[in-house]
Amino acid sequence: MLQQDGVSGGIEELPGRVKRYGDAKRKALDVAEYMAGSGIEQRTAKTVSQCGEYLAFRHYFTVNEVRLHGSMLCRKHLLCPLCAIRRGAKALKAYLDRWEVIRAEKTALRPFLVTLTVKDGPDLAERFRHLHKAQRELWMRKHRGRGSSLDRVEGAVWSYEVKRGSGSGEWHPHLHMIALAEHQPDAGQLAVEWKAITGDSHVVDVRLISQEDPASGFIEVFKYAVKFSDQPEADTVHCWLTLRGKRLVASAGCFRGVNVPDELDDALELPFVTLFYRYLHGRGYSLDRGMGHRPM
Ligand SMILES: [Zn+2]
Repeated sequence: MLQQDGVSGGIEELPGRVKRYGDAKRKALDVAEYMAGSGIEQRTAKTVSQCGEYLAFRHYFTVNEVRLHGSMLCRKHLLCPLCAIRRGAKALKAYLDRWEVIRAEKTALRPFLVTLTVKDGPDLAERFRHLHKAQRELWMRKHRGRGSSLDRVEGAVWSYEVKRGSGSGEWHPHLHMIALAEHQPDAGQLAVEWKAITGDSHVVDVRLISQEDPASGFIEVFKYAVKFSDQPEADTVHCWLTLRGKRLVASAGCFRGVNVPDELDDALELPFVTLFYRYLHGRGYSLDRGMGHRPM
């Protein structure tokens, strides 16, 4: 689960976490190998292939918290599943923290998960532009004040996701949004509005996110932008070539400008042990006992 792959966790979660990082690293190597073999962007292919060759964790044993402290990461989250995990987990934590601050002040607000899709199509760039434009128009309608299904939404964060449609095999970009409102946005009204904007889709979904476990809903928004395990390397590279440089996560309203107290600093003052893992081809990550278990 993304949450467990996150910024921190207990020592008992570390083996599972390292295993997931190892699986992700292996997939990143497949992508890099495909790029190298196809003559696509060789420098980037090399950067991706070298991503996460070592991982240095710090175990703050007095509070049982393990954090990834050091690693050389490629930060190409559209190509590299390892960087996609890190990016998703950091964004999830940042927005859950923001939500905690917001809901302490605005106690009547509740989070809703809203999904918006457009019709599948063969041209990813065209379909993505279409979705992006439609989302912008939806928010413009709210600002114009002439009545919109999102009128009572006070804040939102959304992310774009791309995959191939299961039936059509064509590109299927869609977006997941956390919308904060006192009352559930009307799905029927939203569907009519969305169809009027897109001209090709009335497919929307609105559901309440659990108040007790907001992460269960927030995780939908901060999972990967592409599904690495479900698509061939050629599709992964095509998504990167098409979407690189585009902002795939955006926010509006009260989700912006929230000051989250930086609790992370507390743990940095605590004693820790460093656990150093090295990636070995064919074996995954192994604890380097020479470097590891160094009490500081
Ligand atoms: Zn990477």
